[in-house]
Amino acid sequence: MQGRMDRGYFRYQKEYEEKALEVLRSGWYILGKEVEKFEEEFASYVGTKHSVGVANGLDALWLAFRVLGIGKGDEVIVQGNTYIASVMGITINDATPVFVEPDEYYQIDADKIEEKITDKTKAILVVHLYGHAANMDKICAICKKHNLKLVEDCAQSHGAKYNGKMTGSFGDIGCFSFYPSKNMGAYGDAGAITTDDPELARLVKIYRNYGSEKRYYNMVVGANSRLDELQAGLLRVKLTHMDEITKEREELANYYTAGIDNPKVIKPSVSDNATCVWHQFVLRVPTEGAGENGKEASSERDRLRQYLEDNGIMTLIHYPIPPHMAQAYEYLSVPAGSLPITERFANEVISLPMYTGLTKDEQDRVIACVNSFK
Ligand SMILES: *Cc1c(COP(=O)(O)O)cnc(C)c1O
Repeated sequence: MQGRMDRGYFRYQKEYEEKALEVLRSGWYILGKEVEKFEEEFASYVGTKHSVGVANGLDALWLAFRVLGIGKGDEVIVQGNTYIASVMGITINDATPVFVEPDEYYQIDADKIEEKITDKTKAILVVHLYGHAANMDKICAICKKHNLKLVEDCAQSHGAKYNGKMTGSFGDIGCFSFYPSKNMGAYGDAGAITTDDPELARLVKIYRNYGSEKRYYNMVVGANSRLDELQAGLLRVKLTHMDEITKEREELANYYTAGIDNPKVIKPSVSDNATCVWHQFVLRVPTEGAGENGKEASSERDRLRQYLEDNGIMTLIHYPIPPHMAQAYEYLSVPAGSLPITERFANEVISLPMYTGLTKDEQDRVIACVNSFK
């Protein structure tokens, strides 16, 4: 059993194929009416005044910091246990990430943010990891108090809410990825930003197209980060089904939660005021007596993973190496051991199969296997 992205496609096959043909026959393939309509519809879904389509989630992130004027000498606070793209969005701009440990919901621990604020801190990047909305009450209050910009990495949280408000509508800018395996996956690379600020939206539009608003008049050194018509069209189709897609994932998660009953594993939970759209269903398997750096080779998590694999169930680790321990970030000189919770989670987490069209039978096999792990 492996992640099956085709099932989400076949569920709405006719609509996708009709839209694809429509776009292919239109004679217009980049930045046209599909992108414009998608931007309007996606902004309205998230509850912001504007949305701007870009080429992928990483571009959404680095363009967000760029248009906010955050760069060299500036610090951005971000959780330690995120996908490395969150951090690259900061460092592509030569700004410095400052890592904060996660809470029990795998989100940035809002109580540990203020101790990391210095006079160089310019922004907080909140990542709604695994689809669980972070503690936005506290985070927004901290941003206000310290006059910090707030950027949200919503690559995993399409449709997740905090106090009934969508992730991507709290910050100065929300950054979305529509990579095929995301909850709202396209059929290729795609991304978008959301914002209430018309000037920020305008700047992202300028940056995504070589820094020009008017053809051949280049105001800044921009990027080629345009969203294409085909992906925008397919995303418009998917957007009309997002409520069903999210509801299905909630049901899948509830079914796992009800069925899994092995004292060796820690199940995920959802905090008050937050919803989770279950981009991943992440268990934790602590290793008795493991040091703060864990012992990867002999970890209980790795044993469970192997046991599932032996039974035909493929799992993934999100993420095995925290960004501060990646070779790419040796230059930051954040030593191993300095983020003990982040580092422990990296050795304990395991993501069970979770995707549109996962069947009860398949879930039953996963549950039985997790429960029989000794
Ligand atoms: C997927 C992802 C990204 C990057 O998105 P791409 O479209 O692959 O560039 C950024 N942040 C998080 C948390 C992600 O999961």
